[in-house]
Parts: sequence; C-alpha cells; structure tokens
Amino acid sequence: MTPDLMAQGAERRQAYEARKQAQVATESGGRSAGYGRIAKLGVPDFTQGVALYVDDITVSFDGFRALNKLSLTVNVGELRCIIGPNGAGKTTMMDCITGKTRPDSGTVSFGSTIDLLRLSEPEIAQVGIGRKFQKPTVYEDLSVFENLELALAADRRVRASLFSRLNGEQLDRIGAMLGTIHLKDDAQRTAGLLSHGQKQWLEIGMLLMQDPKLLLLDEPVAGMTDEETERTAELFLSLEGQHSLVVVEHDMKFVDQLTQGRKKVTVLHEGSVLAEGLLADVQANEKVVEVYLGR
Ligand code: ADP
Ligand code: MG
Repeated sequence: MTPDLMAQGAERRQAYEARKQAQVATESGGRSAGYGRIAKLGVPDFTQGVALYVDDITVSFDGFRALNKLSLTVNVGELRCIIGPNGAGKTTMMDCITGKTRPDSGTVSFGSTIDLLRLSEPEIAQVGIGRKFQKPTVYEDLSVFENLELALAADRRVRASLFSRLNGEQLDRIGAMLGTIHLKDDAQRTAGLLSHGQKQWLEIGMLLMQDPKLLLLDEPVAGMTDEETERTAELFLSLEGQHSLVVVEHDMKFVDQLTQGRKKVTVLHEGSVLAEGLLADVQANEKVVEVYLGR
C-alpha cells in the first residue's frame, strides 16, 4: 500500500469510529429502541437536511472509470432528476448507493451518520433505501393486493403479526397504497395481467409499503404510454416531501413535469457531474447539448 492509501484508510477508520460513537448515542432510547436490529445498523441523522451524500466516488471496471470522482447530495424530501447519455454512470451510481457495487474510493452516506459502504445490500434496504430497477419485478401469479401484502410482510416491524391476520391498520395501509398507485379497481386482479405501466406502479407501491426514506428509480417510465407517464409524474410529485426521490430518466417531457420549472437536475457524463441546475438552464448549456441533448 502506498502512504497515500494508508493515510486515506486511517482517515476513513477515524470517520467510521466517530460515526459509531454517534450511533451509540442515538441508539440508547427513543423511537429507535423498538427496532432493535435496525438500530444496530445505525439511525440515519437527517438534521442537516441532507438525505444522501455521495462524495468523490470512483468505480473502475478493468481500468475503465465508470464513475470518476462523482459527488452529489440529495436533500431530505427532495425530488432529484438525473439525466445524461447512455454509459454516463447513472446506474452504476445507484449500484454504489445500494451496495451492489463497491466504489474504489470515496464515501456514500445516508443522512450524516450511516456509512453505506459498510452495509450489505439487504441492510441498506433495511435502513430505508428502496430501489426500483428498470424491469418490473412483481409476483405475476398473485393478485395486486397480495403483492402489497407480501411487501408489508417484508417489513420486519409487521412480519411477526402478519401471518396470523392483517389488522385494521395494515388493511388501511394497503387500501391507501392502492389509491396512491392508481390500482384501487384492480386490487383482486392477477398482477401478471396488468399493463406494463401498472406493473411498474405496483412495484413502486411494494417499495413504498416499507416506507423508505430514499427511493431510487432507474428509468421508471421507459416503455410506458404517454398517459401512464403523466400519471407516474403525478405519483412521484405526491411522494415528494415525505420521501427523497432520485429519478434517472431520458424522457425530457417527464423530467419537465417533475421539476416544474423550479427544481434542480443533475447531468452526468463520463462518470462525473457535467452540469447541475434548472432543466431550462442545463438544456441551454453548450456542453450538455454537445454530449447529450444535441444528438
Ligand atoms: P448509464 O446507466 O448512465 O447508462 P452505466 O452506469 O450502466 O451507465 O454504465 C457506465 C459505464 O460502465 C458503461 O460504459 C458501462 O458499459 C460500464 N459498466 C457498467 N457496469 C459494468 C460492469 N459490471 N462491468 C464492466 N463495465 C461496466
Ligand atoms: Mg442505466
């Protein structure tokens, strides 16, 4: 190891110890006390107003840098759109946040206390980060309702009680979710018979049953009809505030609908942030036009 790397390692170790101390302090009581195992993973601290810190991460695949010193932060309750050409590193960034890929260097943290790089994929889901992959993955043979019921069971707080019978509160939660994802009239339908767009909504509903604080959505409207796309934008706008959302998407009309002329978008290119700002401003940015929008 070079002295440089050793210094980095020592620094990281120190930061880790400091975070561990912070966790012990918050673990001792309050709301977290009931969630024994989850509390052990750390309690996210959002008092700085930041849900996600991605700081200076680099990922190399056989010497090729898919991410190159990428840094960005997402605020609590923020809806952030990420755009950029194919191969820019958008999916790889999500892989790093969710523990699927480990960056060669840099840090990723959830709130100011949870170092995501030391957690496994399932642990990252448990602390409150949900991810929607591009392809819908629902239980095709089960009804819409049963899919949501299973997602609820994946939440350890209710798993113990669930297999006896759903209580009134749980039924209410599923009922409310059916409304949120526009599937109230399809509750008893077999999920395999839903349209592509409806399956996507169902999967988003399943993620939401676990009440993630941060939701990552990779090209959620690819393959949807115009009407489904519009309804998806409405759905995301209704989630904003209660959840932080990171949405990767190429559909500029959809991004425009989500950002409402006032939210920041981030443009990735060659593994780094190329531009960040209002959609209209990045669309007018020469560099962005050249590498992405102009083609
Ligand atoms: P985006 O989602 O922005 O289209 P990706 O994050 O999927 O981009 O990919 C970024 C770059 O990293 C691409 O050049 C891709 O080919 C490469 N890449 C992604 N995953 C792997 C992998 N597992 N092995 C090798 N190369 C990869
Ligand atoms: Mg991708």
